[in-house]
Amino acid sequence: MNARSNSPSAVAATKRLVLFDIDGTLLSTGQAARTTFASALRDVYGTSGDVEGYAFEGRLDPLIVADLMRAAGVTDETIAARRADALALYLERLEAALRERPPVLKPGVLALLDALEKVPGLVLALLTGNVERGARLKLSFAGIWHRFAFGVWGDDASCREELGPVALTRARPATGLFFAGSECVVVGDSRHDVACGLSFGARAVAVGTGRTALPALAAAGAHALLADFSDTPRALEAILG
Ligand SMILES: [Mg+2]
Repeated sequence: MNARSNSPSAVAATKRLVLFDIDGTLLSTGQAARTTFASALRDVYGTSGDVEGYAFEGRLDPLIVADLMRAAGVTDETIAARRADALALYLERLEAALRERPPVLKPGVLALLDALEKVPGLVLALLTGNVERGARLKLSFAGIWHRFAFGVWGDDASCREELGPVALTRARPATGLFFAGSECVVVGDSRHDVACGLSFGARAVAVGTGRTALPALAAAGAHALLADFSDTPRALEAILG
């Protein structure tokens, strides 16, 4: 990467809020998240619904509970009354599972984070469907929790598209900076990440390390596509535009 000065003009030139998705983008927990989610639902609601057939990617954890349980015939009242218990049990079991088998970082993630941290004016943060404790567990066991300034979580809104504006609001107290949507970059592995970025005027960078193929991510409208992050200069270029 070119050496950059920290002059105000250099900062202004690259002022960006880069919002990373977690699962499929930064790391993979293998089957741990799905398995522990299923067992928590079973123990709290008496069924895990069609958890094997459900597409988790890009969705918000509290909504996954509601989708699965509604489809399994659980009433909205019961879903709401037991959801906190289900998520708490899931997180407890997730922690035990990740302690045994830590998440695996996607190729090139550490080198990319190192490179991004050297660009003046960039703020790295998280935008994820995980609730905060789930995000913290996954990233802590992967050794990268400390690399992000703040996060926007799966229980901060009722759909992923609403998380972008929450990120803009949260950035101010967390970083002391005001970011416009056009100064943000959403990096993720699902169509929902792309739609989220587009919905608030951000740049949407899609990476093919999740379950969604690159053509589908392109069709969703991603501004840039990467097979993975292993080519750091190329990933930087995709993110910085
Ligand atoms: Mg993802």
